[in-house]
Amino acid sequence: MIGFRVQHNNTSGPFKGGIRYHEHVDIDEVRSLATLMTWKTSLLDIPYGGGKGGIGVDPTKFSKTELERMSRRFFRAIDPIIGVNVDIPAPDVNTNAQVMSWFMDEYSQIHGYSPAIVTGKPLELGGSEGREAATGKGTAIITRESAGKWDIDLQDSKIVIQGFGNVGSYAAKFLHEYGCKIIAVSDVTGGLFDPDGLDITSLIEYNNKNGTIKGFSQGDLVSNEDILNIECDFLIPAALGGVIHKMNVEKLNCRVIIEAANGPVTPPADDILFKKGVYVVPDILTNAGGVTVSYFEWVQNLQQFQWTEEEVNDKLENKMVAAFNEVSSMMKSKKTSMRMAAFAVAIDRVAKS
Ligand code: GLU
Repeated sequence: MIGFRVQHNNTSGPFKGGIRYHEHVDIDEVRSLATLMTWKTSLLDIPYGGGKGGIGVDPTKFSKTELERMSRRFFRAIDPIIGVNVDIPAPDVNTNAQVMSWFMDEYSQIHGYSPAIVTGKPLELGGSEGREAATGKGTAIITRESAGKWDIDLQDSKIVIQGFGNVGSYAAKFLHEYGCKIIAVSDVTGGLFDPDGLDITSLIEYNNKNGTIKGFSQGDLVSNEDILNIECDFLIPAALGGVIHKMNVEKLNCRVIIEAANGPVTPPADDILFKKGVYVVPDILTNAGGVTVSYFEWVQNLQQFQWTEEEVNDKLENKMVAAFNEVSSMMKSKKTSMRMAAFAVAIDRVAKS
């Protein structure tokens, strides 16, 4: 197996970005994800650059002990190029607070107790209140702001979410709390569809208990491909990259795509959607809640001072809304797509710094 850490840019602060475990991980994927992190941290105006890591494995085929050994070995290997003010990893696809605690422990054995070396840790090891839910919460905030911008009645809106991991499940939770109707969701095993809206509270409980939505009592079965074609206001791809492409884009039936995953819409599909007038809210804005609360976690670690969940969430809300408004203004003044506007804001800030 082979692992990577790519450091793209550190003009505005330490390299920052997650580490994913997935069989499709290769150097090019990690490179492009590292680049996205540079623009994401810049867009949110947090003092970081961009980096990313990954190991090309299917972690479901490993025991917990094997995963621990692999994680520790990887972190030991990248030790010479990371540091609390140099490069700060975090969770991504198939990694979580448990993996972060192995990373932190491995680093701390060499350098002394160093919680700020990694974010997304368990609360007991210097993690932040609100970090686990942050990416999903940010996604919900951005969906709410998009509804306001394009005059969609949020309470009355229909939402489809592909992916029910950390991002998709928390996005569903908060959107459900806003009063939206989540009519379909899926995970790796397939999807569930109910035009009257799924009982999200029970579904989250079921998923937490069983590790999958498969077997839940409500909804018709739908495949991961077909779920994208369901008529809805907001389609939220919250799993992997490249799921909306040239071959399936014409079949979509939504008003807005909210990119909760990194890179779910390929560039050719993006062009087609722009021409058709389907709004695409880009990943570097939508899913930036995760790295934003990672930044709050790191600040708390450096200060050795813990914030309340309310403080974290208030600060997250302010950051997300400010970035949304900045992108909206750029979109208006340059008469361009939201993705182009988000890149313009982000690249401009890095260029200036
Ligand atoms: N992996 C997440 C992302 O793609 C979070 C990165 C972080 O917190 O550093 O934004």
